[in-house]
Amino acid sequence: MRPVVAVHGGAGRWDVDEERRRAALKALREAVEAGLTAAERGDAVDAVVAAVEHMEKSGVFNAGYGAVYAIDGRAYLDAGVMDGRSGRAGAVAAVEAVKSAVRLARFVMEHTDHVIVAGEGARLLAAKAGLLDTYHKFFSEEKNRRFREVLEEARRGNWRYKKVVELAGDTVGAVALDRDGNLAAATSTGGVWLKWPGRMGDSPIPGAGYYAENGVGAFSATGIGEVIILSLLSYRARNELLKTGDVAQAVKNAVQLVTAVHGPDTAGLIGLDARGNPAYAYNTKAMARGWGKQGEIYVDL
Ligand code: ASP
Repeated sequence: MRPVVAVHGGAGRWDVDEERRRAALKALREAVEAGLTAAERGDAVDAVVAAVEHMEKSGVFNAGYGAVYAIDGRAYLDAGVMDGRSGRAGAVAAVEAVKSAVRLARFVMEHTDHVIVAGEGARLLAAKAGLLDTYHKFFSEEKNRRFREVLEEARRGNWRYKKVVELAGDTVGAVALDRDGNLAAATSTGGVWLKWPGRMGDSPIPGAGYYAENGVGAFSATGIGEVIILSLLSYRARNELLKTGDVAQAVKNAVQLVTAVHGPDTAGLIGLDARGNPAYAYNTKAMARGWGKQGEIYVDL
């Protein structure tokens, strides 16, 4: 079996200038490459962690160094990973200044009996795992400017959280199939602009922000976290895949169900079936995405 990796850099408006667009497409391509390289030596979990970590470090997306700010002006990270072979998952939520939230999520999966560890507890684990980072890396002039803008808008009362889809978006995720047929999924995010400190989105919650099951499929979601949690989007797509046998139909049906209940501009999803067929669907204006196997990589936005 040839390894396959699919990634996303978030569903949203992606109303960006050419330079930003090029940077996003480049980071997506490199993330697929990083995933495929990891899959050559390792397994599907290695592949999704490598792909997501690359996007966290790129600073281009709302994850890792690019994470958006909460209402207190700090960057809190959420991330989760699931191993389709063991059925185990690990996640961290509302954690600050760690080198890689997805690697810390993996640490939770592999070195604790827990599934989700949040806040200070997650930083304690990061210290044990050698994953503490310095705070200043998570701030930039560009993000400070955007923070002031969204805060000003919120103060003026233009604060329609559910409709303001640009407050979410650019979360990253990956799904992978390795040469032994194992599946894995991972997602990582800074959440949404101006979130309440301690707010947890879908990205650390298995079945919502990500899901993987050997023999069935792997999924990673993006969009408004609250909507994705309430619709258990990734698990819904897994059920649709079992029902239809077609991963493209499955992600489409899952997103359609979300749209019917919560409206458009709310969610996006990538999926991979057990044979390595990738698929995506979204009800937002755009979604950054890519997929590849050795010698073949596609990215789009
Ligand atoms: N789903 C993420 C969250 O709500 C945001 C995103 O996908 O961009 O935390």
